[in-house]
Amino acid sequence: MVRRAPARYASTTMSSDSGFPDQPPLVERLLAALDRVATAQRVGRAGRAARHGLSRLQADLLLLIDTRADEQPRIGDLAAWLGLTRPTVSEAVGALERKGLVERAADPADRRAVTVRCTSRGAALVADLGTDVDLRDAVESAIPEDDRGRLLGLLLRLIRELQERGQIPVTRMCVSCRFFEPWSHDDAHRPHHCALVDTALGDADLRVECPDWEPAEDARRAVRWLAGRASRR
Ligand code: SF4
Repeated sequence: MVRRAPARYASTTMSSDSGFPDQPPLVERLLAALDRVATAQRVGRAGRAARHGLSRLQADLLLLIDTRADEQPRIGDLAAWLGLTRPTVSEAVGALERKGLVERAADPADRRAVTVRCTSRGAALVADLGTDVDLRDAVESAIPEDDRGRLLGLLLRLIRELQERGQIPVTRMCVSCRFFEPWSHDDAHRPHHCALVDTALGDADLRVECPDWEPAEDARRAVRWLAGRASRR
């Protein structure tokens, strides 16, 4: 029996990368899919924040202050990392301070400057705020272990590209680190190298947040990584 397509598929207009007529281009569907995942993250984080009487921004800030504690961040650092204005961040830090979750301390490097750190109460909230059990379960259920490293590598390529374009701040991940040497090994599973710990890295080993990170001075290194193995010299 020959199945007839529903009338809505009868148009002769077809996107170049799909068998469906009038389908948005693949890149737009990809962006829509990323947006769905971001929505799940946003909703999950907002729910956990609300359970602790925090706004979503206050929860983001508390997590950031804890993650970057080794850098003793100032308000300006937090604003730059989140891509927000200093007054917005200052107000949210003030709210966290009134709730007893963060405190300000003199910067040992500059007595006129003030840094922000978590109190023990704030640090105790961080584990619950930062762990999206439902989303983690969904990823583990939907994406086979062997594919997760590849997906991480692709997402980091996108993040690095956005950083290169100045659309998001540079963060402490391997691909923006001065110790990262892309495409240094012939091993297809571990082609990259971390010069700090002198070890080969595969996509699944790439770090999204590393306390040993130092900014890459050589922008060509990131470009080489983005360009892939063909750019290896
Ligand atoms: S120091 Fe950390 S961020 Fe830099 S390449 Fe090594 S593991 Fe990656």
